[in-house]
Amino acid sequence: MQKYDYLIVGTGLFGATFAHEAAKRGKRVKVIDKRDHVAGNIYTKEIDGIQVHQYGAHIFHTSNKKIWNYVNQFADFNRYTNTPVANYNGEMYNLPFNMNTFNKMWGVRTPKEALAKINEQRQEMAGKKPQNLEEQAISLIGRDIYEKLIKGYTEKQWGRKATELPAFIIRRLPVRLTYDNNYFNDDYQGIPIGGYTQIVEKMLDSDLIDVETGADFFDKKDEYLKRYPKIVFTGMIDQFFDYRLGELEYRSLHFETEELNEDNYQGNAVINYTDAKTPFTRIIEHKHFEFGKGDKNKTIITREYPADWHRGDEPYYPVNNSKNNNLYKQYVELAQKDAKNVIFGGRLGQYRYYNMDQVLAAALKIVDKEFDN
Ligand SMILES: Cc1cc2nc3c(=O)[nH]c(=O)nc-3n(C[C@H](O)[C@H](O)[C@H](O)COP(=O)(O)OP(=O)(O)OC[C@H]3O[C@@H](n4cnc5c(N)ncnc54)[C@H](O)[C@@H]3O)c2cc1C
Repeated sequence: MQKYDYLIVGTGLFGATFAHEAAKRGKRVKVIDKRDHVAGNIYTKEIDGIQVHQYGAHIFHTSNKKIWNYVNQFADFNRYTNTPVANYNGEMYNLPFNMNTFNKMWGVRTPKEALAKINEQRQEMAGKKPQNLEEQAISLIGRDIYEKLIKGYTEKQWGRKATELPAFIIRRLPVRLTYDNNYFNDDYQGIPIGGYTQIVEKMLDSDLIDVETGADFFDKKDEYLKRYPKIVFTGMIDQFFDYRLGELEYRSLHFETEELNEDNYQGNAVINYTDAKTPFTRIIEHKHFEFGKGDKNKTIITREYPADWHRGDEPYYPVNNSKNNNLYKQYVELAQKDAKNVIFGGRLGQYRYYNMDQVLAAALKIVDKEFDN
C-alpha cells in the first residue's frame, strides 16, 4: 500500500480544502467518498448545457474577503444575486421581506407606511412572551406575513405545526425597508461559471492526492483506522462511534428533477411555495443561476421536499436544538478520548449548520492548527 499521511473521508468542501492544503505542504493524501462523485453537496452536473445543482440550490455568498479570494482561485464567479420569490396559492411575493413584499401585501408605498402597518400587525402579541414559533413570528412581523409567507413553509420544513415548534428557531426576521430583493446582505455573492464541481476537482488535482469514490468508510473502518496515521472525517460523528451515546437528529430532503421542453418555466432560479397544501417547499430552475445559458428548448427544474431523517437517509441538516447540541458535545469528548488521531470536520463532523464560506473558513482554521503552529 502507498504510504499516506492522511485519509480524508468525504470529498465535500471541507475534505477537499483540507486535502488541497495538505498536498500543498507536501503531504500524501488519500480521499474517499461513499458517493460515486466528488464534491459532496455542492456537486453540480451539466445536463443540456445547464449546470444542475444535484443537492439543492447553492449560492455562494460571504462578507469574508479572504474566503472570497480563496474560492476564486478555483472558479470564476458570475454576478448572480439571489432574489427568491414566494408563491402563496398563486399570489407572488418578493423575498426577503422588503418594500416590494409590503406593497404587494398591503398596498403601502413608503417605509413609514410599511413600518406603521407592521407595528399595527405586531400589536396582536403586545405584552405577551412568545411561547412557540407561531407566536414568535407574529410578534416580529404580524399575522398577514406569518400566515402567507412563513407558516406553511416552516411547517413543511420541520414536519411539525408552528405551534409545536420552539420560538428560538426564528430569532429575528430581517425586514428591509427598501425596494431591494437581494436575499443576502453579504459583500460578495455569485455562482461559479461552469458549476461547483470544478472547484473540488481543482482542489483535488495533485500528484500527492489519490481519490476513490464509491468507498464507504464504514465498510473498512478498522482497516482504515489501523493503516492511516491521521484521518479527517467529514461524515456523521454519531455514526463514527456507532451511535454509542445515542442518535443525533437530522433533517433530510428528497429531490425530484424534471427536464421540460421549454426555455423558461418559472422566470426565476428559486420559487418558494409557502402554502401548506403544496408538498414541496421550492422549485429550482437551474438555468437561471447562469442567466439562461444552455439549450433554448429545454429547462431543468427540481422540486425540493423536506423529509424526516432515518438511518440510511442523507442527513442534510443538523437539528441544532439544545438536546442535540449537548449530545454532540458528549461525542466531542468521546472523540478527544477515543479517537485522538481523527479530525472531525464539516457539516456532519462538526454537527453545525455551515454555509459554504463558513465550511471553507472552518477547514482553513483546522489547516492552520494542523500545519502552521
Ligand atoms: C439543500 C442545501 C442547500 C444549501 N444551500 C447553500 C447555499 O445556498 N449557500 C451556502 O453557502 N451553503 C449552502 N448549503 C450548505 C453547503 O452545502 C455546505 O456548507 C457544504 O456543502 C458542506 O461541506 P461539507 O464538506 O461539510 O459536507 P458535504 O458536502 O456533505 O460532504 C461530506 C461528504 O462526505 C461523504 N461521506 C459521508 N459519510 C461518509 C462515509 N461513511 N464514507 C465515505 N464518505 C462519506 C459524503 O458522501 C459527502 O460527499 C446548502 C446545503 C443544503 C443541504
